Amino acid sequence: MPRIFSGIQPSGELHIGNWLGAVQNWVTLQQSYDCLFCVVDLHAITAKYEHASLARRTREMALGLLACGVDPDRSTLFVQSHVAEHSELQWLLNAVAPIGELERMTQFKDKAQRVESVPVGLLNYPVLMAADILLYHADLVPVGEDQVQHLELTREVARRWNAEFGGGQDYFPEPQPILTEAKRIVGLDGGTKMSKSLGNTIGLLESPEEIWQKLRPAKTDPARVTRKDPGNPEVCNIYHLHKYFSPPETVAQVADNCRGAKWGCLDCKRVLAENMSLALAPIRERARELEAQPGRVEEILAAGAATAGRIAAETIREVRERMGFLQAERQADRRPDSGMAPPARLPV
Ligand code: ATP
Ligand code: MG
Repeated sequence: MPRIFSGIQPSGELHIGNWLGAVQNWVTLQQSYDCLFCVVDLHAITAKYEHASLARRTREMALGLLACGVDPDRSTLFVQSHVAEHSELQWLLNAVAPIGELERMTQFKDKAQRVESVPVGLLNYPVLMAADILLYHADLVPVGEDQVQHLELTREVARRWNAEFGGGQDYFPEPQPILTEAKRIVGLDGGTKMSKSLGNTIGLLESPEEIWQKLRPAKTDPARVTRKDPGNPEVCNIYHLHKYFSPPETVAQVADNCRGAKWGCLDCKRVLAENMSLALAPIRERARELEAQPGRVEEILAAGAATAGRIAAETIREVRERMGFLQAERQADRRPDSGMAPPARLPV
């Protein structure tokens, strides 16, 4: 069965862009693929972050994913930093990762210009992403459009590593992206991609009132200065969001009302707010149910880390061997259920 890997940063609230662009697809794909889904907290430290709330945000992200329908009986859900091999493989891949291409990454250029001092982690972000995916020999990666370039880099890194250390084999497969129709949801500012770090989002777990408060001031077609000015729905983000939350007849009506100046933008937004709240209600409900089960999220994440860790340890063992490292005796015994006796010099 082909394997899927995908991740999401605990860099803010899980939003409708994440959901439409990636997470909704994860839930569908887990029916037919061997899936690993990861809260990538190591990625989240590449931007300035509040360390006091990282653990809480990581847990909340995992809870949000479960509420969306990620099923721990079908998929492996875990936290990136709980499987140390992600960091290790990232370092090992640095041996072949091309710096020129890293500097050309759109996300690096965007995010670097927003900070005064650029941390090297931001440049290396795609190498860590390559490590995430290659660690599990994943074939497919469901992501939004913004990650397609990073995935190209993953393939490049895999090719270079295979050429250098593969011994004539394609040890690492070259993973392909899976995109949804909603591959780039625009933020409420109407200009840039909806992003956790830009504060232009609608959170998946927000109440109907909060959704309305966010939609109310959201950018629409600037041509619609007053209610009587006709607009062009194609340039209005609210219209595009209707396509994902409103039934087709409403979407057609929205376009017609906009072009004919038959209603105001607030009327249009009110209908969207209602339909969005309705669509997200089951996710909010599942989140509430999970919150009512203390320890459940932690239990799922621990089981996920154990499963992912077993695969990761095996990959790292092979990678170290192929790259020529002297194998340390205790490496093979690190996993509690590796089936081997614990090393004599560790306390048992
Ligand atoms: P950050 O601003 O911290 O980078 P983010 O909102 O971009 O956060 P990520 O954790 O980087 O979220 O990405 C998680 C997944 O969601 C990725 O697959 C990404 O491609 C997808 N994604 C993020 N934003 C959007 C968007 N606006 N439209 C569609 N997909 C998106
Ligand atoms: Mg992002």
